[in-house]
Amino acid sequence: TASLEQADPEIAAAIKGELGRQRHEVELIASENIVSRAVLEAQGSVMTNKYAEGYPGARYYGGCEWVDVAENLAIDRAKKLFGANFANVQPNSGSQMNQAVFLALLQPGDTFMGLDLAAGGHLTHGSPVNMSGKWFKAAHYTVRREDQIIDMDAVAKQAEEVKPKLIVAGGSAYSRAWDFKRFREIADSVGAYLLVDMAHFAGLVAGGVHASPVPYAHITTTTTHKSLRGPRGGLMLWNDEALTKKFNSAIFPGLQGGPLMHVIAAKAVAFGEALRPDFKVYAKNVVENARALAEAMKGHGFDIVSGGTDNHLMLVDLRPKGLKGNASEKALVRAAITCNKNGIPFDPESPFVTSGIRLGTPAATTRGFGVAEFQQVGGMIAEVLNAIAQSSDGKAPLVEAAIKERVKALTDRFPIYQ
Ligand code: PLP
Repeated sequence: TASLEQADPEIAAAIKGELGRQRHEVELIASENIVSRAVLEAQGSVMTNKYAEGYPGARYYGGCEWVDVAENLAIDRAKKLFGANFANVQPNSGSQMNQAVFLALLQPGDTFMGLDLAAGGHLTHGSPVNMSGKWFKAAHYTVRREDQIIDMDAVAKQAEEVKPKLIVAGGSAYSRAWDFKRFREIADSVGAYLLVDMAHFAGLVAGGVHASPVPYAHITTTTTHKSLRGPRGGLMLWNDEALTKKFNSAIFPGLQGGPLMHVIAAKAVAFGEALRPDFKVYAKNVVENARALAEAMKGHGFDIVSGGTDNHLMLVDLRPKGLKGNASEKALVRAAITCNKNGIPFDPESPFVTSGIRLGTPAATTRGFGVAEFQQVGGMIAEVLNAIAQSSDGKAPLVEAAIKERVKALTDRFPIYQ
C-alpha cells in the first residue's frame, strides 16, 4: 500500500526528474510524443498482473474475461481507425512486429528489399547488425543522389534483378511521401509480399493527412508510440484472411509469450483518442508545423535533405555551417532542445558523428505549439548552432544558457501533466 515515493524514493526521484525534463524542454525527437493521462493510467494499471497467452476467447489461462474486453476493444478500434480487416495488437515493440512478418512470410536466407538505413530505413529492415540482416539476405534500395528521393524505377529494376520474397517500404528518417500503389505493383510483378512499416507516420495516416498503405500492403506494421501517440508497442494490420493464422501465430507462440495486457489496454485508449475528430486537427497541425520548421531552418541557412518535408520530420544537413551531428545534438540538449544526430544520405561522416540532425514535430504539437512557436524554435536552434560553429570547442555556454531560459519561458506557456 506504500506509494512509490515511500517504497522507492530513488526511482520516484528519477521519474520526477524525467517529468521535469519533459516539462521544460522542446522535444523534437521525431519518434517521441506526449501521451494523455488516460493512456498513462491504463498502462499503469492492474492489467500488468495478468497472464493471457493466446488471443481473446482462446487463452491458455483462466480469468481473462476483463483483459479480453480490453484486447477486443483495441483490435476493433485499430481496425476502424485504419480501415483494416484484421489487427494484432500484441507486438511488444516495433522490432517484434517486423520480426513477426519475417517469421510468418520468409525462410532464413530468403532475399528481401528495404530502404537503406543510411537513406532513412530502420535497423529491422535489413541492417547487418540486426537479425533481419543476419538471417535474411537484404538488398537495399536507396535515394537518388541529386534530390535524396526514392527512385521508383530503380526500385522496380532492382526487384527484377534480385527477385525478393518481400519488399519493405517505410522508414525512420524519410521525409517524403511514399508511393504505396507503385510499391505493390512492383511486389506483384516479382511475386513478393509488400510490408509497409508506417511506424513513423501512422498518426498522420490515422488523422487523414497522409496516404494510407493499408489498402496496398499485404501487411502494414506500426509502432503505437510515435505520431500515433499511444503507449510503447507495435500493431499489425492486414486485409487477407488467408494470412491471419500466419501473423497471429508468428507473434504468439512464435516470438512472444504473455502479452502486455496493461499496454494493450493503453493502446485501446490511444486508438479511441485517435478516432476522435480532434486527432485530425492534431495530425494536420503536425504536418503544418513540420513545414514551418523546415522553412525556418532553410531561412537560417541550413539545408533540408530532399529540400523539405511531406510529413512530421526532416533531416537537417549541417554541412553549410561546417557542423557535425554529434556536437550539434549535444549543444541543443544543453539548451533544452532535444533532438538526435542522424546520418544524411551518402553521409561522409560515421554514424557516431554524422552530418545531420533529425527534427520532428509530433511531441511539441501535442503540447500546443503552432507555426509561430515552431518558427521561434527554428530561430533558437539556429542561434545555438551558429554560436557553436564560431567556437573552437563546439560549446557556447552563454548562448546555450540564454536559450535554455527562453525554452523554459516558452514551455511554461504550454504546460504538460498539470
Ligand atoms: N520501424 C520503424 C520505421 C521505426 O522507426 C522503429 C523505431 O525506431 C521501429 C520499427 C522499431 O520500434 P521499437 O523501437 O519499438 O522496437
